[in-house]
Amino acid sequence: MSETSPQLIRLADYRPPEFLIDAVELCFELDPEHTEVSARLSIRRNPAVGQANGSLRLAGEGLELLALALDGQPLPPDAYRLDEQGLTLWQVPERFRLDSRVAIHPARNTALEGLYQSKDILCTQCEAEGFRRISFFLDRPDVLARYRTTLIADRKRFPVLLANGNPIERAELPDGRHRVTWEDPFPKPCYLFALVAGDLECVEDRFVTASEREVRLQIYVEPQKGERCAHAMQSLKQAMRWDEVRFGREYDLDVFMIVAVSHFNMGAMENKGLNLFNDRYVLASPQTATDEDFAHIAAIVAHEYFHNWTGNRITCRDWFQLSLKEGLTVYREQEFAAGLFSPSVQRIRDVRFLRAQQFPEDAGPLAHPVRPDSYLEINNFYTATVYEKGAELIRMQATLLGPESFRRGMDLYFARHDGQAVTIEDFVRCMEEASGRDLGQFRRWYEQAGTPELSIWGGYDPTAQTYTLHVRQFIPPTPGQLVKHPLHLPLAIGLLGEDGRELPVWLAGEPEPPAAGTRVLEVTESEQHFVFVGLDARPVPSLLRGFSAPVKLKDDLTESDRLFLLAHDPDGFGRWEAGQGLMQDLLLRLVADPKASLPAEFIEAFRHALRAKADPALIAEVLTPPSEEELGEQMAVIDVEGIHRAHRLFGTELGRHLREDWIAVYRDNAEADPSVLTPEAVGRRALNNLALAYLMRAGNPEGLELCRMQFGKGRNLTDVLAALRLLVERGGDDAEAALAEFYRRWSHEPLVIDKWFAVQATAPHRETLVRVVTLLHHPAYDPGNPNRVRSLIGAFAAHNPICFHAADGAGYCLLADQVLQLEPLNPQLAARLLKPLIRWRRFDPQRQALMRAELVRISKQGARSPDVFELVSKACS
Ligand code: ZN
Repeated sequence: MSETSPQLIRLADYRPPEFLIDAVELCFELDPEHTEVSARLSIRRNPAVGQANGSLRLAGEGLELLALALDGQPLPPDAYRLDEQGLTLWQVPERFRLDSRVAIHPARNTALEGLYQSKDILCTQCEAEGFRRISFFLDRPDVLARYRTTLIADRKRFPVLLANGNPIERAELPDGRHRVTWEDPFPKPCYLFALVAGDLECVEDRFVTASEREVRLQIYVEPQKGERCAHAMQSLKQAMRWDEVRFGREYDLDVFMIVAVSHFNMGAMENKGLNLFNDRYVLASPQTATDEDFAHIAAIVAHEYFHNWTGNRITCRDWFQLSLKEGLTVYREQEFAAGLFSPSVQRIRDVRFLRAQQFPEDAGPLAHPVRPDSYLEINNFYTATVYEKGAELIRMQATLLGPESFRRGMDLYFARHDGQAVTIEDFVRCMEEASGRDLGQFRRWYEQAGTPELSIWGGYDPTAQTYTLHVRQFIPPTPGQLVKHPLHLPLAIGLLGEDGRELPVWLAGEPEPPAAGTRVLEVTESEQHFVFVGLDARPVPSLLRGFSAPVKLKDDLTESDRLFLLAHDPDGFGRWEAGQGLMQDLLLRLVADPKASLPAEFIEAFRHALRAKADPALIAEVLTPPSEEELGEQMAVIDVEGIHRAHRLFGTELGRHLREDWIAVYRDNAEADPSVLTPEAVGRRALNNLALAYLMRAGNPEGLELCRMQFGKGRNLTDVLAALRLLVERGGDDAEAALAEFYRRWSHEPLVIDKWFAVQATAPHRETLVRVVTLLHHPAYDPGNPNRVRSLIGAFAAHNPICFHAADGAGYCLLADQVLQLEPLNPQLAARLLKPLIRWRRFDPQRQALMRAELVRISKQGARSPDVFELVSKACS
């Protein structure tokens, strides 16, 4: 952490490295209090770069230098300079060996970056710039080296010693220590380095690759937790097979390891051959994890595995290219997940996430392009824009090219760039070459921030029997980008006839009608129109099918068009989207006029959707309204109270009007086996718990009884937690009793207790703020554990709008206090928690003033880390 203001890093300043490191030999003498790291680097000048002044600069932070030698000769103090950020050697030869020895202190590392301690385990986190906290190095992703790593540690405390690659040597040492050497044959950037030491239980399995190589699969967890790895292991094997079938990608080492630790800043990390995971994304049993947790585990295990090709074998040239690996890998993860359950439901969830997380980011002071131009702290750019919008850009390319060309583009990318550190431009060029298409205009998606607004209106001409769609795109200005240029985007549409049948989408000028069904139009102009022929009546258009582009769509569909689509769109996603549109309009009307009521056709349409013979998971999605956050996005000034009230009212009314149906749904689905995880069972639980929620909101006594019973059965966490959440939302003695009972039952299980904290932090009650403050002093609260911090403070600030935005500003003050306390310990975590304050401009003047005051307080009393400093200064400028 530096006291001076941090340096702005710009993409335009990128220069290739002056030196390359071919080989790295590391030796760790591990001890939580004092670890010594010896590094032998084989360095040479980069032949591709002209001669500079002959000095070498290595990054290094918080390292205590013990020894330094060049080609075996100890370096005198005047041969180098040491500062806060690293080491400069004044004169170095063309090619040489550099030996350094440093001391570091894992037990004192609360930032969880570099080498740190999680309970009794020592582990590393190097992405993006953590390796410089381990050893002096060229800590940049375009320097690829082969690593050989030796770990030495006390045999009893650290019986398991892991690093990247394959183990090649083991020895017992006379002093009670032991030693293991690992070798990774694949050159990699240092951000993919990892080691783990500890007393770990190992769950083992095997996988035979398409070319019949056998791979050992190992999941390492804290003792006694091995039983809860089965789902992660199964997901891993599914992901390995999927990548072979879908993309022809095979695993490349003899062993693939996953280690789960309790202290982790993010979800997981794709270190070569040794993925490190936040244990909440590994451990699961039906008693300790919800169906949602199971789904996340499958997705994240797959995501990290997929990085082996999209990230590791082909990596990023610089951190501005982060979406090269993250956008692409999220896309691959989403496609994999779509095959596990239902593609429509998966797409619905991904779109909900994008709208709730990425759209607000793209509309606020932190808006940045998928490929940013500059940053102060790269850790601040692991965002929904780089990840999820980045994935949408890959998806659009796949849509524009079609599956065959897209696969050819991927094959070309893997063939051409294997072993390299490349750019997003390199990826797009492969897509162009493989398809023969020009993606010149499409590239703007990577450069321009902001969510495009797409306005579409239609006109039917009965005489000509044509239907015309007028399309206009507008991209709002974002910080530092006032002028925008039109984008190239795929607009997937269908046209439906009166009876709900798909019609051919037949463009004027085409000799023949195509087959009926979805068609992808290409939008490239700021204003454009499409004429469809052969239509003897006005069709109902199903627009932006599958959310074919990440835009805000404004169309001129009437309420009856949407009701029609909700009932008839053959596309599941389209039915959901129509329902969302109806609910959104209604909710916004309720915000404006609390006495507005639910129209009868509307209630009937939802009754119909509820009774439909469809996948229960999809029905549950259709009947779930847009979140309070999503609604807020639609308003010029977010009316926190109005939205909350409207949301409640909507729930109560739909609960009351469909009471019999909800009860029938619950009765039909209630007997599902609590331990079964089939898509069918998971969907039934989702629908059931939605029914219970509506019954509870309606204040139905039968609902309360069912809720108590469901909580009491206690055999499946999805059901228990859903009931607990509803009881707590209702409040009173039942709530207190259930919370106490839940805590007693699970006090030994941190991941379940995280949920206990989150349920209380998200309860929409006046007393919640006081309760959160009280919980900060609960013996189970631990500011050193990111999962716990997120479950209390993160949940309160990000998922409890009515309490966080309390009119007196107490929620803001609480968050700022916590950010200030956490920043010196863990700046990355503090910066992430702070985000809800950043959107202050979206609220009324009173709230704006209160939020801004807290940001100013943070900038005065804290913001010593580049992480927090960057966010606070962007928010206030
Ligand atoms: Zn990733």
